[in-house]
Amino acid sequence: MISVFPETSGQFLINGEWKKTQDVANVINPAKATEVVGEVALCSETDVTKAIDAAEQAYKVWSRTSVEERAERMKEASQKLSRVIEQHVSLFVRENGKTIVEAKKDLLRCVEVMSKGADNLMEWWKPEPVEGQAQKVQIRKRPRGVTAVISPWNSPMILTFKRAIPAILAGNSVVIKPATYCPLTVISCLKEIEASFPPGVINVVTGSGSVVGEALCNDTRVRTIAFTGSTETGKQIMSQSANSVKKLYMELGGNDPALILDDAVLDEDAIKRIRMGILRASGQVCSAIKRIYVHKSRYDELIDKLKKEFDRVVVGNGIQPDATMGPINNQTQYKFVTELLERTKQSAAKVETAGRKLDAASWDEGYFMLPSIVTNISHDSELVKTEQFGPIIPVLPFTDLDEAVEMANDTEFGLRASVWTANEDTAIAIADRLEAGAVFHNNHTVFKDLRLDFPGIKESGLSRETRWGSLELFTDSYGFAD
Ligand code: NAP
Ligand code: MG
Repeated sequence: MISVFPETSGQFLINGEWKKTQDVANVINPAKATEVVGEVALCSETDVTKAIDAAEQAYKVWSRTSVEERAERMKEASQKLSRVIEQHVSLFVRENGKTIVEAKKDLLRCVEVMSKGADNLMEWWKPEPVEGQAQKVQIRKRPRGVTAVISPWNSPMILTFKRAIPAILAGNSVVIKPATYCPLTVISCLKEIEASFPPGVINVVTGSGSVVGEALCNDTRVRTIAFTGSTETGKQIMSQSANSVKKLYMELGGNDPALILDDAVLDEDAIKRIRMGILRASGQVCSAIKRIYVHKSRYDELIDKLKKEFDRVVVGNGIQPDATMGPINNQTQYKFVTELLERTKQSAAKVETAGRKLDAASWDEGYFMLPSIVTNISHDSELVKTEQFGPIIPVLPFTDLDEAVEMANDTEFGLRASVWTANEDTAIAIADRLEAGAVFHNNHTVFKDLRLDFPGIKESGLSRETRWGSLELFTDSYGFAD
């Protein structure tokens, strides 16, 4: 089969002009590692400077564009994107490894981020009077300036759009740096919408994080960095950015615990939600369940039910409708997860691999892994302590709830957590004690309303709650008194 590269292969965007470089890297299909899906430009530091120059100029115009017009242009852009979602699904699957269902859902959420953001902008932007003051005081908003958006490969579309769109709506200009493993759908979708805004409002530079990402952090004209990725890179970005006072919006790694209490309802639906919480996108989700602590009285039942549920998983090329779980996105991650599994097998732990291969003949051509349940494992083990970011789940029994809460909190991460119990009051009482940006009751998922976000705490994030699709994070409020 001759595969055709997407039109945007190897392209990047500065000031409304699509450019190419000699220096490129291949983007690989993780379901068939010999297939090159397209190329990614390896931009230089000079390219980054030019992108920031363009963003700086565009900011002068865009920041003074009325809220009405900004919302209108975003609405128009969302309509453009919604018309081309279908044609992007297969590209997204081919470069990322998600299943068709997962890929389409992510793409549709990007359209929603745009249209809902546009709908909300005017109401949110309104000045807010501060009552009961001797003076007449109001809180007003203003954008911050050039914003860098640096995003990861696991869910590159939504994690780019969820940051870049509110930044643009709020009147900032953006320089986007998508992940090198998986940039093509992001770039192609940005190409569909960029002309809705003045040139230079959206710029895209691609290439190595240590060159392009670092150059973005170093430039004192970048006022905000919205970074989503690993905690390790997040820390590097903090130190690289320290030559000027930038606002850092950080969404980092996670090692989410699920606490399953003795009175939990473990019916078919609940088990399905637990499976989804673990195996969505092959476990390559920041806020996936990465450790389970289950009351001893329900341990055997949970293992038995989860094993049966995992056995229904069909692993294969996400482009095939029968696949319910795709491959690991890239070779580095595949090596990390498979070696972690191997070390776990060498320990005293019991590893049970479940699920079915969709196509055994082509299995070795991709970065496929069947899902595994690990038991007889200690809280101090490597698998429990690290963010595995793959389809392996350790399950640990507990007898004392206080001890379980302590183990759940015994991590530097603090992204999400879940409590599984029939009693809502118990769930809330436990949630109050769990160190996480958000806690779900009888589920481990995302907030359905995209405007709501509760970024991670501890080493999982550096932001605040947001009820307005992150608009607050890309603006400065200021007081006006008369
Ligand atoms: P990553 O290695 O940290 O990379 C993320 C982005 O940062 C990529 O675009 C990368 O570029 C860039 N980068 C690398 N080094 C950089 C540097 N020195 N300066 C500036 N940018 C740099 O993360 P990943 O492996 O792509 O994603 C997986 C991780 O992200 C997991 O830990 C996961 O939990 C976390 N994550 C968190 C959330 C959340 O919302 N909390 C969501 C999704 C993922 P290259 O692509 O060129 O390396
Ligand atoms: Mg872990």
